[in-house]
Amino acid sequence: MGAESMEALVEELRGAIADERVLAAIAAVPRDRFVPPALRRHAWCDAALPIAGGQTISQPRVVAQMAALLAVREGDRVLDVGTGSGYHAAVLAALGARVWSIERDPALSAGAARTLAAVGVDGIELVLGDGTRGWPAAAPYDAINVAAAAAGEVPPALEAQLAEGGRLIAPVARGGSEHLILVRRGPDGLERTPLNAVRFVPLR
Ligand code: SAH
Repeated sequence: MGAESMEALVEELRGAIADERVLAAIAAVPRDRFVPPALRRHAWCDAALPIAGGQTISQPRVVAQMAALLAVREGDRVLDVGTGSGYHAAVLAALGARVWSIERDPALSAGAARTLAAVGVDGIELVLGDGTRGWPAAAPYDAINVAAAAAGEVPPALEAQLAEGGRLIAPVARGGSEHLILVRRGPDGLERTPLNAVRFVPLR
């Protein structure tokens, strides 16, 4: 908490995130345009903030950590589950990815479309639907980013839409706590690695 400018936030994140490409992507996306106007002065705090529909825009540190773990490269095909404000999708696009971002709430998706157009972000296709089923039309993906907590396990449909060599990062709620899980599809199948504790809104 406490950062008052994009530069101060990126400096604060530099302590935790070693990937300079990710820090540059965070610096390139105007987070203040993705939060409700009344919260704009808090946009550069390292905190999750409320957005419309009772949802939240994720904490910048967690967005950066997830993007670093996904190791997104120029031209990667990326599925983003839970568009919300569109901020996380914009960070993935700033890393050079082609992004499909799926949201269940039409009002949030429409708001994200307006913000992304106003900010001038290209390379993101917003789709409406149940993200637990992924978006088979554009699969397979080099990376899948899930921004809402799945109950019990990573939705199998999402794992099934990972390309060989693909990475997936998702918060999973299990036994009263929530952890990020990194999934990699290697030549011998899926490898799942539980990581740090996090807090996300639920995937429904
Ligand atoms: N990535 C967003 C924040 C996401 S909050 C941002 O950068 O602002 C989680 C989002 O997931 C919410 O917008 C919620 O409506 C959406 N969501 C929850 N369950 C979903 C589902 N099954 N399919 C698609 N979206 C879902």
